[in-house]
Amino acid sequence: METPASKGTPLQVAVVGSGPSGFYAAEALLKSGHAIDVHMIERLPVPYGLVRHGVAPDHPKLKEAILVYDKIARLPHFTLLANVCVGRDVTVDELLARYHAVVFACGAESDRRLGVPGEDLPGSHTATEFVGWYNGHPDYRDRSFDLSQEVAAIVGQGNVAADVCRILAKSVDELRQTDISEHALEALAGSRVKEIHVIGRRGPAQAKFTNKELKELGELPNADAVVDPSALELNAASAAELEAKANVVSAKNVEIFREWTARAPSGKPRRVVFQFLKSPVALGGNARLERLVLARNRLEGEPFQQVARETGETETLDCGLLFRSIGYSGVAIPGVPFDAKRGVIPNREGRVLDADGAELPGLYAAGWIKRGPSGIIGTNRADSVATVKSLLADLQRLSPEPKAGADGLATLLASRGVRTVSFDDWLRIDAREVARGQPRGKPREKFTRITEMLNCLDAP
Ligand SMILES: Cc1cc2nc3c(=O)[nH]c(=O)nc-3n(C[C@H](O)[C@H](O)[C@H](O)COP(=O)(O)OP(=O)(O)OC[C@H]3O[C@@H](n4cnc5c(N)ncnc54)[C@H](O)[C@@H]3O)c2cc1C
Repeated sequence: METPASKGTPLQVAVVGSGPSGFYAAEALLKSGHAIDVHMIERLPVPYGLVRHGVAPDHPKLKEAILVYDKIARLPHFTLLANVCVGRDVTVDELLARYHAVVFACGAESDRRLGVPGEDLPGSHTATEFVGWYNGHPDYRDRSFDLSQEVAAIVGQGNVAADVCRILAKSVDELRQTDISEHALEALAGSRVKEIHVIGRRGPAQAKFTNKELKELGELPNADAVVDPSALELNAASAAELEAKANVVSAKNVEIFREWTARAPSGKPRRVVFQFLKSPVALGGNARLERLVLARNRLEGEPFQQVARETGETETLDCGLLFRSIGYSGVAIPGVPFDAKRGVIPNREGRVLDADGAELPGLYAAGWIKRGPSGIIGTNRADSVATVKSLLADLQRLSPEPKAGADGLATLLASRGVRTVSFDDWLRIDAREVARGQPRGKPREKFTRITEMLNCLDAP
């Protein structure tokens, strides 16, 4: 049976999204040994997804993944078309007319909601907004956060909550030489936040921090980490969870919390207070957030299946600033099936499924939009490789006709007046950002508005 490659024309594949999963999918395709042209489409004029706009500025080592992506982008048969949003500038049907296959690697760009009254009061924000703001994401450039408040709360106990906590707890001198955006640094310089409550609905044994990130919160020069010793008294099921060999991370987390309870307060200007077994049931305030009503919970169920149940008791935390960090959710792209409950594109081994569970020929998913927001950057590699394996196994089923690929898409976009950004263009933006950072001792000063990014390409 004929495949595009056997007809002497390369397979044309569009990868939607330039985050880790997009780049790992591109790499797997380009190194597969098949004749394949990969065309990566990114809605922003700049690549790298959450590695640029999510990973915390004070964790620069973790951004080194970009060096790998830069190499992938320089492989033969790779093309970047940035500043193109699928669903806005081009439809999925238009892509399918020009490509043999489309891999959606568009991440999870929205947040899960708490679903409690007052959630949208001014002063209550998603972690995404704050993270995007301090990392210079154009979507969040003009957000503002009332840092004149003395008490802030973060709902959620995972690594994103830890990132938000560090940015609030650190002094600006600790952040000044990172790639944090200048507008955020200026606002944080005036911060009056003294107390940051990090709230989890389950207990210390179920907190989702990794050990390194948790430990770091106890080593901040500007803030004491505080845990009430009574909060570390575990029920039998939690104690059993910690005994399990596969659960060393949680056991170590509880050990870290215990070490902190033995410390005398050092009088640092800020405090990070960990609260467990509490869930927000309402946000209150007169026109803006003033207080959080927390239900006290108890855990019920077998080890590793424990769920938080409200006890009927509540307490109030006076706080003027709240960040909800309870998980990310994908955003639907018109023309692509979407599981709104899970926030993912429904798929089987990366093959996109319609409402009846049937595979849609030529459509694939990888990364957070495929499996939900879990794992570290590296987790996306195996995930994307698995999707590409499915795609390559389907070669016989994909249309054998030659497709126009990148050239065809570029012509369509040009006819619509869409200004596209190539990888070479990105390298120019990159060089300008690095040069802007130099006088401030920063690795880069990002452009934070799309117009700035594009204008920089027009500059001589
Ligand atoms: C705040 C935060 C901090 C993190 N810190 C770390 C860390 O320190 N270490 C670690 O290992 N992992 C970290 N992670 C996890 C890591 O960032 C993710 O595992 C990874 O980025 C997921 O990759 P992805 O490619 O699926 O999605 P993303 O990285 O989100 O990339 C998706 C890309 O698709 C683009 N896109 C979306 N919609 C469209 C569209 N319609 N058309 C075209 N393009 C589109 C987006 O602009 C984006 O560039 C962090 C995550 C978050 C949220």
